[in-house]
Amino acid sequence: MVPFFTEYFGNPASLTHMYGWEAEAAVTQARSTLAAAINASPEEIIFTSGATEANNLALKGIAEACFGRGRHIITVQTEHNAVLDPCAYLASLGFEVTYLPVQSNGLVDLDDLEKAFREDTILVSVMAANNEIGVLQPLAAIGEQCRDRQVVFHSDAAQAIGKISLDVEAMHLDLLSLTAHKVYGPKGIGALYVRRRPRVPLAAQLHGGGHERGLRSGTLYPPQIVGFAKAVELGLADMAVESTRLTALRQRLWQGLAPLGQLHLNGHGTQRLPGNLNVSFEGVDGQALLLGLRGTVALSSGAACSTASTAPSHVLKALGRSDALAYASLRFGLGRLTTADQINQVVAGVVATVQALRQMA
Ligand SMILES: *Cc1c(COP(=O)(O)O)cnc(C)c1O
Repeated sequence: MVPFFTEYFGNPASLTHMYGWEAEAAVTQARSTLAAAINASPEEIIFTSGATEANNLALKGIAEACFGRGRHIITVQTEHNAVLDPCAYLASLGFEVTYLPVQSNGLVDLDDLEKAFREDTILVSVMAANNEIGVLQPLAAIGEQCRDRQVVFHSDAAQAIGKISLDVEAMHLDLLSLTAHKVYGPKGIGALYVRRRPRVPLAAQLHGGGHERGLRSGTLYPPQIVGFAKAVELGLADMAVESTRLTALRQRLWQGLAPLGQLHLNGHGTQRLPGNLNVSFEGVDGQALLLGLRGTVALSSGAACSTASTAPSHVLKALGRSDALAYASLRFGLGRLTTADQINQVVAGVVATVQALRQMA
């Protein structure tokens, strides 16, 4: 990214001089890298400020472009707020939204989806990987159901890009939201994949200079874009090895905690992100647990995006967890820098804290 802050400072939309060309060449290369990462073509990548904006563009853009055909949208109870909130907004405008429940393992039941389709369904939005419990939804099967009914299929892949393989053809995706910062890239940059063949009707939400094929006006920021592509490239290069390594570390963590007993794994045991473990601890107070572990490990009980809210996680509630258990849950995030030593330390810290809290109770 560094040379694009200093040496190559041109505007990629300035095509009448060398400075613009340099910046444009870098953006074009990044666009190709990102497209190749999801088996798309470069013209199908629309840069945005992140997955929140990509989701807003996808959901509101389809709703606006298709409302003559229908006003029904299908999504899932466990989606990120960056999908749920635009859906709630669309509902306030007169759209009807079906929120599919999930099974106790966090996965959508394909029969529920089948039954939810209506004559006037215009869009299905199902996330690739859940940000709290890590489960991987069966995108290819869902995409097939959408394709059969000619309903646009969108997925929020903020947690998935660079960690699991994504293929817009094999998964029959029409729209796919991406972001850089969940895969060690810079914050404030993401993209929406928009299928060209068959063309997906999408209404722009930002109007101006007509950038990004008219779908997202605003000057592109080359340092962010270059960093985004590099982060995804590195993620893909290491994916197989890293995924095996993280799965083994996650197993080590789960097995280390198991002797505590009265634990609940949240989300499917294997169909999940390698680096995610989410556990509910019976018999402890969630707040006390987090406080007790503050010095040992950086943890959260839910999403960073909902720290302002004190309600129990809507994702854990959708799995059928009680309020008390939802509060007494920890999401462990294992990543590129996580070592076996750290897992041992975390196991020791969590075991000691939970035991102490249970004794006090
Ligand atoms: C982080 C996240 C988002 C928001 O992405 P930003 O790039 O921060 O806007 C959306 N959806 C999911 C599933 C996420 O994990």
